[in-house]
Amino acid sequence: MASHFPALEQSYAPGTDSVFSDQSGFYSLDSNVPGLSKVILNKLNMKDYSEYRSAVEGKTRGISFRNYKEMFQKMEETFKFCTGCNKLPEHLAEGEILKRCVKCLNVYYCTKDCQKKDWPQHKKVCKTLRLVAIDRLSEWLMFTGDLPFPTEKWSKSAAEVKTWDDWLAMQGGLSSRVDAILSGANTATLWKNASRPRPDEADLRQSLWRIQSEFLSRVLTVGMAIKYFGLDPYAKPITIHLAGASHSETMGARLTDYDELNHMFPGHQGIEIVMVGPEVVDGPIMRPPLRAFGPRQRVYISAYKALYHQFWEDVVEKEEAVRPDLVVGFHPGFHANQGLLQGWLPTLLLLRDYSIPSLFTMYSELELKYSLQILLELEMHIRDNGSNPFTSQKPEQVQACPNKPPVYCNSHYICFHGLLPREDLEDQGPDN
Ligand SMILES: [Zn+2]
Ligand SMILES: [Zn+2]
Repeated sequence: MASHFPALEQSYAPGTDSVFSDQSGFYSLDSNVPGLSKVILNKLNMKDYSEYRSAVEGKTRGISFRNYKEMFQKMEETFKFCTGCNKLPEHLAEGEILKRCVKCLNVYYCTKDCQKKDWPQHKKVCKTLRLVAIDRLSEWLMFTGDLPFPTEKWSKSAAEVKTWDDWLAMQGGLSSRVDAILSGANTATLWKNASRPRPDEADLRQSLWRIQSEFLSRVLTVGMAIKYFGLDPYAKPITIHLAGASHSETMGARLTDYDELNHMFPGHQGIEIVMVGPEVVDGPIMRPPLRAFGPRQRVYISAYKALYHQFWEDVVEKEEAVRPDLVVGFHPGFHANQGLLQGWLPTLLLLRDYSIPSLFTMYSELELKYSLQILLELEMHIRDNGSNPFTSQKPEQVQACPNKPPVYCNSHYICFHGLLPREDLEDQGPDN
């Protein structure tokens, strides 16, 4: 069997990063490459994860970095360790240098030998990791405001739009939007300062779409949940809580982030989105949730920094916020470890016992499987689960294990509602 592995490129390079969706993920780097999280923070001269996160997202670049070149370079350095033996730059022997795989420009090796041994694994993901390496640079355009680009009004009803293709068919081709970004000043700045060649136009176009799809994936998944539970935004205002809203969801969030719902349900009675989570980041969305009816035909976003069950006790129970018609959680990750599960448990029981229509998403089929097990043990009434037609199109690299198959945001989902009905109980719950 042919096992020709690509040559190594000299080490230097770019990169904002998109890998961490939460803090525990950051520190779990160390279980794969011991010391990596510390290296990252030290290299960036940062005290903790939140400082890192805000720099990654361009918020503090003036403080931490002298210029764009340095910013992109420092970020890329967080990817620098030998994918073969996990060696960090500081552990290299005299004269050794980490070199990039020339095909993906994403992973590094300390020696030819390490690369050769790793190739049977790496070749399975090298092609996808090439896209990831482009995306983690293109993603900077989210923080310059070039992305997400504006979208068209829907020419079909929400019920008719079942897949990305249905959505794309209403957009009249994305090329004019994408071309405007590609010929813009920020794209020029980006590729002038990234220490890698500018990819060709087709690669860049696809990259912009993948990043846009990740942004829209959250909105369209909420829309899908509204349809799934038969909520009618034309009949009355709808309140949706995003439980466990993360750093990455709320950092740089704008009041218009869920406006695609206006295209989905034109003329609706008002849709309120409340982002709740301990990692919620301060910004324009940080304003009190509504106590009553939202503004008609508009999406109103607010945010609250707390665990969801605390928010429920402190705000919802005191009637300082409307009760939700729907709760959505993007990648709650309660399957990942006992600590996260403990944090989520009161929320899960609350959602079950108040019989609140809920939809949670996962990064992979495996996560779906583990999450289902946990929800079934809690006797949740699972109504549906499977792959999400509005999954993000952008592959996510597992930073400390680049050869693990990349995952996709919102790739799978579970809908649950109330307590599992029992054969031996006459009362099957209020919603059956
Ligand atoms: Zn090595
Ligand atoms: Zn490669």
